[in-house]
Amino acid sequence: MSDRLPGFSTLAVHAGAQPDPTTGARATPIYQTTSFVFNDADHAASLFGLQAFGNIYTRIGNPTNAVLEERVAALEGGTAALAVASGHAAQVVILQQLLQPGDEFIAARKLYGGSINQFTHAFKSFGWNVVWADPDDITSFERAVTPRTKAIFIESIANPAGSITDIEAISTVARKAGVPLIVDNTLASPYLIRPIDHGADIVVHSLTKFLGGHGNSLGGIIVDAGTFDWSTGGKYPMLSEPRPEYHGIRLQETFGNFAFAIACRVLGLRDLGPALSPFNAFMILTGIETLPLRMQKHCENAKAVAEFLAGHPAVASVSYAGLPSDKYNQLARKYAPKGAGAVFTFSLKGGYDAGVSLVSKLQLFSHLANVGDTRSLVIHPASTTHSQLDDAAKVKSGAGPDVVRLSIGIEDKEDLIADLEQALAG
Ligand SMILES: *Cc1c(COP(=O)(O)O)cnc(C)c1O
Repeated sequence: MSDRLPGFSTLAVHAGAQPDPTTGARATPIYQTTSFVFNDADHAASLFGLQAFGNIYTRIGNPTNAVLEERVAALEGGTAALAVASGHAAQVVILQQLLQPGDEFIAARKLYGGSINQFTHAFKSFGWNVVWADPDDITSFERAVTPRTKAIFIESIANPAGSITDIEAISTVARKAGVPLIVDNTLASPYLIRPIDHGADIVVHSLTKFLGGHGNSLGGIIVDAGTFDWSTGGKYPMLSEPRPEYHGIRLQETFGNFAFAIACRVLGLRDLGPALSPFNAFMILTGIETLPLRMQKHCENAKAVAEFLAGHPAVASVSYAGLPSDKYNQLARKYAPKGAGAVFTFSLKGGYDAGVSLVSKLQLFSHLANVGDTRSLVIHPASTTHSQLDDAAKVKSGAGPDVVRLSIGIEDKEDLIADLEQALAG
């Protein structure tokens, strides 16, 4: 065996997986079982007391899900990960470890529409207060910091326009404030951007999108970078203080650089309950094996479609960071040199009506609310994903009435362009 460290594509196929020790099965089996037999009473007690690692019940952990967790942790360069039922569940579980009622977190204004909704409304009922900042103005993050700030949340490649966030600059703000930086890396996937290399402390994904990649399974994952010191000033009691749930152990003291992943599992997932089905974990693992190949094709196609649209007379503007003329191109070259992703927006000279007409005339593109599928997708954010925002907030978050969002699939790019051409011809 050579002592070479495996590359990204090798990890995408192999990390976390071994032939099944009992059957020799080469693909990771679906352990479709709720619970696991203990060796004896002492073993059971040590599992429940967190003195030993092992399987108890699928709401806390499952061997199929464990392979997925190890694989994504390896791809992101984290110390450990926790898979949950959806991207949104992952966001709840993360913030539950960090915020007490009355606390605040700062979030970039350019986010997945569902996250804007979740942060604004659902989290308010938990007493968690979101403070918005502008990812294009780093000082707006500095100004938003207060003694109650417990975290900063951004997207690496941001919805809906595919803009690129300056992760390092925002991580400097987070360090100064003494709070962890959480990066939603869904649109980039670790193939294009590894936020931990740029100062992220926690990475979160909707596995539903590019990692699963086939539009067939929901899932979410939390990756612990192992970089944050949770013991400072009693600010994060879930991690630093004795836990009554586990005979008074302190998670940071006991689990060190993967304490956050443990907290998410034993305090978050165990008690809130959004467990990922092992079947979905299997589907997502299968998807991840081809992530590098798919992302290359997604990016190549997206660039070709963006170039086509930029030259079309019916198109007012195209926001794709992979175009040299784009305002995010400099950041794209720095953070995503392999490609600027496959989700972006463009606006039509004909405004709202032209957007609605385009969506109805496209044939190969599916009109639906998703991204990161092998299939090409289209949506009009102003009337769907971002419809809950008022007009000013729509424009600020990149979802004005004339804006159409595309998620470019892995079909032949000539076919995608032909479909857009006939739909734009009117
Ligand atoms: C889809 C998505 C989410 C939410 O994930 P679900 O799996 O649908 O819960 C969060 N962030 C981004 C960027 C997304 O695209």
